[in-house]
Amino acid sequence: MSFSLDADHDSLTAFLEQHAPHEPEFHQAVIEVMEDIKPIIDQSQAYKDANIFKRMIEPERMISFQVAWQNDSGQVEVNRGYRVQFNGAIGPYKGGLRFHPTVNPSVLKFLAFEQTFKNALTGLPMGGGKGGSDFDPSGRSDAEIMRFCAAFMQELHRHIGAAVDVPAGDINVGPREIGYLFGSYRRISGQFEGVITGKEESYGGSAMRTEATGYGVMYFLQEMLKAHDADIEGKTIAISGAGNVATYAAEKAAEMGAKVVTLSDSSGFIYDEDGLTPAKIAWVREHKAQSGTTLAPYVDEFGGSWTEGETPWSVPVDIAAPCATQNELLEDDAKKLVENGVKAVIEGANMPTTAKAKDVFAKADVLFAPGKAANAGGVAVSGLEITQNRKRLSDEAEEIDKALKAIMSRIHDACVTEGTRDGTVDYAKGANIAGFRKVADAMTAQGVG
Ligand code: GLU
Repeated sequence: MSFSLDADHDSLTAFLEQHAPHEPEFHQAVIEVMEDIKPIIDQSQAYKDANIFKRMIEPERMISFQVAWQNDSGQVEVNRGYRVQFNGAIGPYKGGLRFHPTVNPSVLKFLAFEQTFKNALTGLPMGGGKGGSDFDPSGRSDAEIMRFCAAFMQELHRHIGAAVDVPAGDINVGPREIGYLFGSYRRISGQFEGVITGKEESYGGSAMRTEATGYGVMYFLQEMLKAHDADIEGKTIAISGAGNVATYAAEKAAEMGAKVVTLSDSSGFIYDEDGLTPAKIAWVREHKAQSGTTLAPYVDEFGGSWTEGETPWSVPVDIAAPCATQNELLEDDAKKLVENGVKAVIEGANMPTTAKAKDVFAKADVLFAPGKAANAGGVAVSGLEITQNRKRLSDEAEEIDKALKAIMSRIHDACVTEGTRDGTVDYAKGANIAGFRKVADAMTAQGVG
């Protein structure tokens, strides 16, 4: 079955069902982008001749491998590892590694597809990729994590390289895992090269990389609010998640004068009406790192309330920042947020808002910043880390922070330029079109064969 560009939404869905069956997350991401870029392709004979859209939704390469490793009891466990090299037209593949039981080809294809656009938006030369494993690190010892990372790299090393594919972290892959992965690569290959980003500074990591995604989210939010005659100061914000993105977004928001009232994990959420101060946020980060379990004890430390088994979207706030994972903000959540007067939604995670929830926000004229623009700060600083590694030099934190702010501001402006119709900005459309043009032009220029 072929898919014609003149086709409507239904035939794209039918095409995807046949071409990439059982991949709901991937379909969701493709359909969302397709609706925005269809008119751009329709206007360009060069894009049509190069069959750009079909090539854009087909990963250049998908690697799937066995990871066999030994646990602390001496038993051998088996997981599946993946690397999706989605699009390398504008630079070496770049994107994180995620270790989570929900990791499967659909999730990684959607993430790598989104990453292609996100990386293009940063203005830095990085193609799109993503990888990971269905390995669940919760409750595992440090030694088990190290052995898993070593076994994972035993296969991955042959597919990556500083000029080939440069992974980084994502959910459950932070500085500790990056260290083990990098060490493993170095020992196997005999090369000390910038093959992974998110490294610690002692061996070539960039200042600010850990904070970059979360800080970038708030820099983007500030730009978006300013463009709409508003300011972050004094706003009440609900943030979901308690990982790297959520906690650094919360820290920056508090520093900018906003009141962050929630954080959450997979077992429930904390609501602190007085606002989470940087000290309280640091406690959350530490508690998660130490115990890895529920945030419920926050209430014993600082007061507020803990709601078991719920997400934070019932709380009245000016701004919602989903920073946990994909499809965590549903249609009913969006309705509740709108009823409670939400003014803006900013995605810190990748595709955390379902298509139906997005429709609810659009109908209610709620400002909406898509993840591929709003959370691009992490991969942007990864791009700066690549450059520092190439130069064998390290830039100061101040310099990186300034560069991050400038990149977030440029991404914001690109969304405005491409997404403004009749005086209103559709940030998702702007991000899709701006990212698309850059990648599509590079693909067209490079021909095929
Ligand atoms: N995992 C992050 C993301 O979703 C960062 C990827 C990177 O730094 O390569 O963009």
